[in-house]
Amino acid sequence: MILDVRGLQKYYPVRKSFLSSSSDVVHAVEDISFQIRAGETFSLVGETGSGKSTVASMIMRLIEPTAGEIEFDGKNMLTQNGKELRETRRDIQMIFQDPYASLNPRMTVESTVGLPLEQLKVSSGKEKRQRVIQLLETVGLKPAEKILDRFPHEFSGGQKQRIGVARALALSPKFIVADEPVSSLDISIRAQILNLLKDLKERYNLTYLLIAHDLSVVKYMSDWVCIMYLGRGMELARVKEFYQKPLHPYTKSLLSAVPPIHPSIEKKRIKLRGEMPSAINPPSGCLFHTRCPYTEEKCININPDFMEIRPGHWVSCHRWDEI
Ligand code: SF4
Repeated sequence: MILDVRGLQKYYPVRKSFLSSSSDVVHAVEDISFQIRAGETFSLVGETGSGKSTVASMIMRLIEPTAGEIEFDGKNMLTQNGKELRETRRDIQMIFQDPYASLNPRMTVESTVGLPLEQLKVSSGKEKRQRVIQLLETVGLKPAEKILDRFPHEFSGGQKQRIGVARALALSPKFIVADEPVSSLDISIRAQILNLLKDLKERYNLTYLLIAHDLSVVKYMSDWVCIMYLGRGMELARVKEFYQKPLHPYTKSLLSAVPPIHPSIEKKRIKLRGEMPSAINPPSGCLFHTRCPYTEEKCININPDFMEIRPGHWVSCHRWDEI
């Protein structure tokens, strides 16, 4: 086990209005627990506002949780600071969603990829240049020497994302948080970046936390999948079981919206009622009850536990065995 997340919660105060002094509370992450094994890809999936990116930010220690625990490589991350935290940060790197925004337009490729090496005083000068060349070639940007002095605007979206991946690899991390790494790219180059990430995972025994909403990407990349809704885990399972035997009504609805692999295959779409409620005022009982086609009295009043109903298959639903 490389990452163990237990009971993670994040609440934000937000001012009710510009003129008001009182505030509301956004329940960005209500309660989520999961473990990630070394060398595997674990995907957190959900709609915008489900809390998946907030979870990633807490794991990166970019924001502090309101409650819960995060253990990385056997150590409690949340009590770390100074040198210990810097070492953990070296082991956990991030690939960002938007390669256009994540690269500084005024920095050359060499400065961008070499920045983490310089910041942590790993290498400088010629040694750093050699490492940058090696990283660029690893991500398929060849001949690397010819692009060292170029700027981000001179590259396509896919090439920019490769530069972002090279930067994430610079410190030889163990764990990579990939936040929607292909969602802003052209469909034609998504597969190339996904294949690159898969290849790097094998080559360097990396572990990935993939933040995603595209279930086709998730199926291709993951070993484990966890569906989030309003900051809570709804279903977690190994990828094969998740796609073959989904149990939660929300999972079933999301999977029913994935286009069939062949137009001749008929698929029944499970449509949900309304929109996701506000995280400022989440529903009582089961957070999904306002949209679920199977809601009953108990669902409105009692929040179902996140239960392991088969080894490795967790679900948060009172009626998982009836529907
Ligand atoms: Fe639907 Fe009730 Fe299950 Fe929630 S607990 S998902 S409302 S059936």
